[in-house]
This record gives sequence, structure tokens and C-alpha cells, in this order.
Amino acid sequence: MFYQSPGALHMHTFYSDGTGSVRDLALAAKECGLEWIWITDHDTMQGKPEEGIIEGVRTLVGYEITPHRNHFLVGDVDEIISRDLSPAEYVAEVARRGGVGIVAHPDERATNEVTEPYRWDDWAQRGFTGIELWNYMSDWVEQYTPVRKYFHFFFPSVALRGPTSDTLRWWDELQVEGARPTGVFGVDVHAKKVARMGREWEVFPYTHCFNRLVDYLQLEAPLSSTFKEAEQQIWDAIRRGRIIMANQGRGSAAGTTFLALSPGSAPATCGDEVARVQGLTLEFVCPRPAEIRLFQNGTLVARVSNGQKLRFDCHEPGHYRVEAWRRTLWIMTNHIHVI
Ligand SMILES: [Zn+2]
Ligand SMILES: [Zn+2]
Repeated sequence: MFYQSPGALHMHTFYSDGTGSVRDLALAAKECGLEWIWITDHDTMQGKPEEGIIEGVRTLVGYEITPHRNHFLVGDVDEIISRDLSPAEYVAEVARRGGVGIVAHPDERATNEVTEPYRWDDWAQRGFTGIELWNYMSDWVEQYTPVRKYFHFFFPSVALRGPTSDTLRWWDELQVEGARPTGVFGVDVHAKKVARMGREWEVFPYTHCFNRLVDYLQLEAPLSSTFKEAEQQIWDAIRRGRIIMANQGRGSAAGTTFLALSPGSAPATCGDEVARVQGLTLEFVCPRPAEIRLFQNGTLVARVSNGQKLRFDCHEPGHYRVEAWRRTLWIMTNHIHVI
């Protein structure tokens, strides 16, 4: 049995270009039922002294390395690594210090009045912990065109596209290759204030985003109420790929499980490596009916058109993950590695 701990990562306070304080973010997270957040201001850990358990929310402070392109989320490292290094150098430097490093919004393509594309340039790069498969803010920004801007301004989550097929292909290929980076969803929230139509509006308040892209850690014990222990549980789950990602705009994903069940062994979950034995079954369960798709090394191998459970007798090695759709993408698991 695994304990699920909902949280969110990739967010900005007023120490960089967000509008809220560390405490504001923790309170917004609490309001949305999150147990942890990972704050990532641009090239600063000014919020670090405020790190800890705030109103029950384990609040971790890392940072985002943000040169002009190639943004990289850093956690579990106590020093700022310079954005003047090349991406290859800062990826290696985070790894050398034993930190957690996540490639942020790798496939951002937007160029419009809001932003330039902050893509990840070198997809041959290796040595990072994970990939931000879906970035809420950059997805929104890409849909933002002069014609549609007011519509998107007031109905910000209508046109979201989800992870790009290129990003998913890269992530699946890296499993086969053996690098096995963890997939995460990132909110990238700033709660920017913008003047429009005679008053000031907050684009994407923190609570809006925290109610959307949520990462559920799969833990062996409930998330600790001691900060140091909780922090280790969170970094460990991120390193191991023990995460089920959800777009909760399509409904809560609480209670979702993805397990590998083999006779005589304890259940394993995503991020885990399991041996291909007689009777090995992969089982995905979600709390509402959905279209459930199981992928092996990126190829669809099983599908339930409308249900809450998919069971699959597993006879072949591979890297297996699940997507659940309710009109749009709702839930995405990390891989179970069958060897
Ligand atoms: Zn960024
Ligand atoms: Zn960011």
C-alpha cells in the first residue's frame, strides 16, 4: 500500500517575478488541499529562511536557473548555481552536488507579446532528474494570441493542450535508453497582476493553478510532520519517479493507483523496477470513469474505453505508463519498469 501526497512544484514568489510571499503560496496550497509545495524563484533562494511547515504545508525552497533559454528547476542544493554556465555545465553541477534537477518547459514554442519561447535546446542532454512534461503557464501562453487574448484572459484554462507529443516521445525514449527521468507537471505560477478594462486583475491566482496541475507522490509512509523528514520523502519520491500527475481541472485524481502485482511480493508502483515473473499484473485504478490507455515504451498496448480500472497481464519487459482521459488529459503516471 502506498500513501498519496498531493503537492505542486515550480512557482514564483515576489522574490522573483511572482506577486505573493512564501506564506501566501503555502496558504493557497493549503486551501487547495496540497500537502507540499516546491518554490522555484528565478536564480534566487531568498525565500530559504522561510522554508518549513507553514499551516501544515511542507514548503520547500529551491530555484529555477533562468538564462535566456534552457530553464532548469533545482532542489535539494544549498547554493545558487550560476545561470552563466552552459546548460550542460549546470545540469552536471546539480548532479555533482547530489541535487534534484528538472528540465523546465522543454517544448515551449510560443512567441507573442507575452513571451519569447524558453525552450530546452539540446535534447541530447542527459544527467537530469526529471522533465516537466506539462507547464501550466507556458501552455496558456502558447494559446495566447492577439485575437483570443481577452477570451483566454477571462477563461484561462479553456484551451490548454497538455504535454506535447514530442515531449512524451523524448521522455519514453529516455526510459528505454536507461536514463529514466521522472515526469512531473509544473504550475509555474506567478499570480501576475495585469491592468485590463479599467481595473487590475490577477492572472492565474495561486489557488487557480494549485487546483489544476497536481503531483501525487506515492509514499511508503504518510508525509512526515517533521520538516526534515518530509523534505527527504519528497526529494526521494521525485528522484525515484514515484509520482502520479493530474490535471484536476478534469476532476480530483485523489485515490488513483498504478501498481505492479506479482504473486508472493509486495506491490510496486510507478518509478519501481519489477521482475517479469509468472502472474505479473499491472493495475491502474482511478476515482471516476475515464478512457484509460496503457503504453509500453511509448506504444499503446491496452485500452479501456470508459472505466475506472485497467488490468493487464504483463508478459513482456518494458517501461509501462498510463494516461487517463476525460475528454482531455486527466491523469498521467510515471513508468513501471518491467525487466
Ligand atoms: Zn521558466
Ligand atoms: Zn518559472
